[in-house]
Amino acid sequence: MDKINIRTNSRSEMIDFTRQLSNLIPKSFKSGVCHVFCRHTTAGLTINENADPAVRHDLLAAAEQFVPWNNPVFRHLEGNSAAHLKASLMGFSQTIPVEAGRLCLGTWQGIYFCEFDGPRNREVLVQFIGDYHA
Ligand code: ZN
Repeated sequence: MDKINIRTNSRSEMIDFTRQLSNLIPKSFKSGVCHVFCRHTTAGLTINENADPAVRHDLLAAAEQFVPWNNPVFRHLEGNSAAHLKASLMGFSQTIPVEAGRLCLGTWQGIYFCEFDGPRNREVLVQFIGDYHA
């Protein structure tokens, strides 16, 4: 099991950690899947466009419209229910096929850590499951 530490810098943010993830693929890993897991309740993981940064902006802006920070129905005393909900909407894990030492992402795909209650120090667990060279 590997771990990626991510320092977030604002309340809501999408951080591309595709390169860090690629760098963890073991030389001996032949083929299989990379499983990544976010160990937090107010941050999640998603895969989306890595070309136009406006896509990240738009996803975060729309998420804020769907789930505003303040909502009179929220009871959670910590005051960050919006962050909990956005994290659940994104999900807490992703699975990416790996072949010939590379993540099999599409040309325009990157994997993002989605912060919804930053800034914080976060961590993502990484496992490579499949066939290894002897
Ligand atoms: Zn909370």
